[in-house]
Amino acid sequence: MLARMASMVIAAALLVSGCTSSGDGAIQRKGPASTTSSLPDSDQDQDSSDGEGGSTSSPTDGPLDGLGSPTSVGDPVTPGAGAEGIDVLSYDLDLNVADPQGPISATVLITVKAEQELAALNLDLHGLTVESATIDDLPVDVSRDGDELSLKPKSPIPQDTEFVAAISYSGDPNPVEDPSAPGVIGWLDRESGSFVAAEPIGTKAFLPSNDHPSDKALFSFTITAPENLTAIANGVLAEKLTENGMTSWRYTQSDPMATYLIQIAVGDYDLIEATGPRGMQIRHAVVRNLSEEQRTLLDQTAAQIEFFETLFGPYPLDTYGLLVADSSPEFALETQTLTLMPASWLRGNTDEFSRVAAHELAHQWYGDSITPSSWSDIWLNESFATYAEWLWADHAGIQPLEDSIEEGKQVAEEGRGIYGPIDDPRPTEIFSINVYYGGGYVLHALRLEIGDEQFFELLRRWAADNAGDNVSTEDFEALAAEITGSDLTDFFETWLRSDSLPALPNK
Ligand SMILES: [Zn+2]
Repeated sequence: MLARMASMVIAAALLVSGCTSSGDGAIQRKGPASTTSSLPDSDQDQDSSDGEGGSTSSPTDGPLDGLGSPTSVGDPVTPGAGAEGIDVLSYDLDLNVADPQGPISATVLITVKAEQELAALNLDLHGLTVESATIDDLPVDVSRDGDELSLKPKSPIPQDTEFVAAISYSGDPNPVEDPSAPGVIGWLDRESGSFVAAEPIGTKAFLPSNDHPSDKALFSFTITAPENLTAIANGVLAEKLTENGMTSWRYTQSDPMATYLIQIAVGDYDLIEATGPRGMQIRHAVVRNLSEEQRTLLDQTAAQIEFFETLFGPYPLDTYGLLVADSSPEFALETQTLTLMPASWLRGNTDEFSRVAAHELAHQWYGDSITPSSWSDIWLNESFATYAEWLWADHAGIQPLEDSIEEGKQVAEEGRGIYGPIDDPRPTEIFSINVYYGGGYVLHALRLEIGDEQFFELLRRWAADNAGDNVSTEDFEALAAEITGSDLTDFFETWLRSDSLPALPNK
């Protein structure tokens, strides 16, 4: 995700504010900005500190109705989200959207492996009406408790068995509010069409799911919509059939995906196809009123992929493109293979657009193909995408790297006191500027510490060795130690977790 912060304004805001953890002025950044990119006032900070102790953010991981099946993975950033004890292997969603501004109706087949004996299958679902549900074609008891959906079969599901839950549901999706997100999330619609923006916990607004990044799964989507509209989703178009005025679009993907990275859009969108490096398919979907001049901004996608391939290794997914929608101007989101980009950002500063596009593209390596298993490790997404953005800005002549490093340093100096350690930010601050700019600065320090050759080998191996998997900060530290043959414990301890910022390595 990128809550856009005009880079010059970041530096100015920090310089002017002299803000510390006890600072008393909330600063709203300019440019497309968000409340999460504001420095908190002292009250908010105090609340966050309390939360860090765990008492106000303890996960609701107790059994549901005494059934003995977990209802949460226990991630303190997203209490209640996901469920332990299950491994979703695939979601096959059949979705009807007669009107992008209206209700949806759907049937999803969820193939699950039971990692423990399950009295019930517990999923996340926000609003909507469950019309019927089965497990392996047999009826189940359906119960709802807040955003928990529980499907209880007649007898427990034995450990290590695979089963298929079929759930039919419908209704008007209600957005989800989450304290860490820069706006409402979930299934969103505008006059030009619908789209989704789900990070971190918005997927439950339109899909019963194990809505936590630790459970990546395969996805396929069949979206049926009026034939005059376009439907697009993650992955490649496998089939398109029109019958009685309705078109069904089937999208498949060969790589696993975290639930928060889903994109499904239906509306007045034009599809634009292009070819990327090595003949890879690029496809964008854009609101129909985007001008020809604005559409030409998308031409740089191939050059960006090519640039990042030289640094990070081959593009890791089936396809890529942007969904340029009338989404809220607060943020762009790296939805897998199909980044959500606000149309307003193609109508503004073209350099800023180029930077954001690079940032979201870099996430396809760092965040999408490889995904942190806990939200507190979000720096593995955002710091990497920020550093990639700096490298692109330097390469494209938008901003010299040393200027970006200087901005990162200013954020890093203040940020750790305000938002918490880079690899363990306070639960409501996972998208704070410190995770972006402060973490980008940490990666630059690592580059100086181990040298260009090993640094970029590390980035390539990190992407290649873990493609399709979940990762942790520990994994990254271990790979760095393996590649360099040195003990980097002190480096990571100091740069990620200490209260004060060390000087850049002088090597
Ligand atoms: Zn991002």
